Amino acid sequence: MRFQINTVIRVLQSRNRRSPLSLFPYEASRPFSKHHYEPQRPSFGIAFDIDGVILRGHTPIGGSLQALRRLYGDSGALKIPFLFLTNGGGVPESNRARELSRLLGVKILPSQVVQGHSPFKELKNRFENELIVAVGKGEPAAVMSEYGFKNVLSIDEYASYFDNIDPLSQYKNWTIQNQINKNNTLKEMATRSNVSSDRVQAVFVVSDSIDWSRDIQVLCDILRTGGLPGRGIGHQPPLYFASDDLEYQAAFTSERLGMGAFRIAVEAIFNRIHPNALEYTSFGKPNPFVFKNAEAILKQLWLSSSYGVDAVNNEENSQPFKTLYMIGDNPSVDINGARQAGHPWFSILTRTGVFKGKENHADFPADLVVDTVEDAVNYILKKELSL
Ligand SMILES: [Mg+2]
Repeated sequence: MRFQINTVIRVLQSRNRRSPLSLFPYEASRPFSKHHYEPQRPSFGIAFDIDGVILRGHTPIGGSLQALRRLYGDSGALKIPFLFLTNGGGVPESNRARELSRLLGVKILPSQVVQGHSPFKELKNRFENELIVAVGKGEPAAVMSEYGFKNVLSIDEYASYFDNIDPLSQYKNWTIQNQINKNNTLKEMATRSNVSSDRVQAVFVVSDSIDWSRDIQVLCDILRTGGLPGRGIGHQPPLYFASDDLEYQAAFTSERLGMGAFRIAVEAIFNRIHPNALEYTSFGKPNPFVFKNAEAILKQLWLSSSYGVDAVNNEENSQPFKTLYMIGDNPSVDINGARQAGHPWFSILTRTGVFKGKENHADFPADLVVDTVEDAVNYILKKELSL
């Protein structure tokens, strides 16, 4: 189903906007017993991209504050199951949820935050006790440690075990000492083994690399030698990327290079210095796994919300959602992913980030194009709740 952009906007503007309370007719006189109360359970859920939709940098955009508030009742309880589906990351989901709650003025649960690296936790059993290296801004080793990986080092920490591994370090006028000190506990865990002679069994690019030249050098060292920098050519250990965004919308006017750009750089160089082409797995949108995972989490939110305990008993194995909405700003990531995921996903493209076109995107057309996330939420609530 596709909609003409301007028609939808006009429809939205022409109707009176109702208060959040009036969207939920059962809410005003909410009874205390199921005998008197048959809640109108929503048969839809929403996944919001963050960068370029909800926030630009740390600033809320597109009426996101008002839009999100409409998804909660007066008491602050969640009324409409929703989550954030971002390819960003670098901090544990619990920290990100706290930050989003502060910026957006509503209570966000850690389970409502799905970051690019969230699927890495599925690999815990395979690498739980193995030496692994985590790359990226923020606290990449802390993220992996929270997922249960017991022998993880950030690339900063790992590189510190090898003198002169970065020939340019003396020209870099920043220091990584604070980060290394903060992660002393992790370092102690890792020194149970001899880091410089233990094979790295896997590398996880958790978030955007800060120092491309050092990270590409060290990654190539690890990957070309089978996990032992300074040794001869070996079999490449597994390499995982949290996402593959070529570009994303940050605080700067035009898009910034993302993890996909870093991956291209690593791959292009590795393929020139190793007999076999680089093997890697990229998670994050548009990977269909991410949308399946989001659907499962939304269902859990739906089951654990205030729609009635009977739902847990009677509908655990059923599909509660007729429609799941993906609201994003990036056609090749958000819209492409929702299109690939198919039913029950419905894609909504905003113009507040990467996409700025007047009409729909040519290669990855969305089911609906609107100006802002507030327009998207208005559309959804009108359509779903017949108001
Ligand atoms: Mg985005």
